[in-house]
Amino acid sequence: MGAPLTPEKVVDRVLISDEEIQNRVRELGREITADHVGRDVRLVTVLRGGLFFLADLCRAVDLPLQVDFMAVSSYLGGRPGVVRITKDLDDPIEGAAVIVVEDIVDTGLTLNYILRMLKGRRPASLEVCALLDKDVRRIVDLPIAYRGFSIPDKFVVGYGLDLQGFYRNLPFVATVRDEALQEVL
Ligand code: 5GP
Repeated sequence: MGAPLTPEKVVDRVLISDEEIQNRVRELGREITADHVGRDVRLVTVLRGGLFFLADLCRAVDLPLQVDFMAVSSYLGGRPGVVRITKDLDDPIEGAAVIVVEDIVDTGLTLNYILRMLKGRRPASLEVCALLDKDVRRIVDLPIAYRGFSIPDKFVVGYGLDLQGFYRNLPFVATVRDEALQEVL
């Protein structure tokens, strides 16, 4: 494999700027703060994409809270929406006010699976905070309590979202040039 394409060759258009993201994250943090005073707040995210959003969001929440991480992978050739847990949460969530922090919700199948699994562990509450929502692609109906931005059905990179593992560190969310997408397909 050669060197990865530079961001200039991959980015088509900046959809959401660094500043817009940071402003919205602060608003979401304020909403979560107001809604969870006195609760045992647990922000949970799915590696790797979600960790960038979680890192900013948790610092915008003005409450004592804990963070925890899980990782999943889809079964190759398996049924859509059935995922394998490759890293589980470290701590039990029974009785906690759990907020699943997601970078993007697309069909919703992955998140639906994760929510069903976490619900079985009897948290006091289970909510979703998603930065990006590709709502036109939704297959399963999911309650999203906190939503950053609704975006069109375009493949995006940046702020945690990758193309073959790269470009997560871009501070903005951008659509990808067709040529770059074709190279990896
Ligand atoms: P879902 O199960 O909701 O269809 O898929 C969610 C996962 O698909 C996300 O967590 C993310 O990893 C990936 N995904 C969906 N849309 C995009 C996108 O536009 N860009 C990137 N980089 N990943 C995406």
